[in-house]
Amino acid sequence: MTAIVPNAPAAENRGPRTDETDLFARLEALATGLGAYRAKVIPVDNVETEVSFRDMCAKNVCGNYGKCWTCPPDVGDIETLIAKLRTFRYILVYQYVGTLEDSYDFEGMLDAGKKHSELTAAVRAECEKEAFSDRLFLCAGGCRICPVCAKKTNEPCRFPDQALASLEAYGVNVSKLAAAAGMKYINGQNTVTYFSGVLFNP
Ligand code: SF4
Repeated sequence: MTAIVPNAPAAENRGPRTDETDLFARLEALATGLGAYRAKVIPVDNVETEVSFRDMCAKNVCGNYGKCWTCPPDVGDIETLIAKLRTFRYILVYQYVGTLEDSYDFEGMLDAGKKHSELTAAVRAECEKEAFSDRLFLCAGGCRICPVCAKKTNEPCRFPDQALASLEAYGVNVSKLAAAAGMKYINGQNTVTYFSGVLFNP
């Protein structure tokens, strides 16, 4: 059975203030203007997290388990990370949709992943300018800042201030996150979709 970590109690005072809705619209327009297919700010109370995701990572299907400083197990205990995620009030969810020639188009998938990483970097650069009291940037998959993560050569992280962990590393159920944000998790035949998020406290 999948263990779902209960969301933080939905308190009325955690809803958006009227002056925050303008901020949300601006952040969504910022992300789509930089190339996101869709973008939406939702309350973190609406984000489902699952401790069991760590078991899936440990099966090492992606080959990154223990090979990247921001992937499990080095990223940290999942319950601690979920607790950290719950200290934020909102998340800007955005998605990049890449087009493939067919379902075997491996180069197309790599290219879409690269473009999504570029989008994530651009959104991050803009959100760094916002006067948030706190923020956390999460991406799709492991950190892609270095061509080869320093973990693979037993060196310290080269850019600890820039390193990005994934939504999944923080226990986020991304398919449910997509639904909560009114987005499709899959966007049709011969496409690949990646998600990132900016957690913030205004
Ligand atoms: S910044 Fe480089 S060394 Fe650090 S986690 Fe990312 S890829 Fe690895």
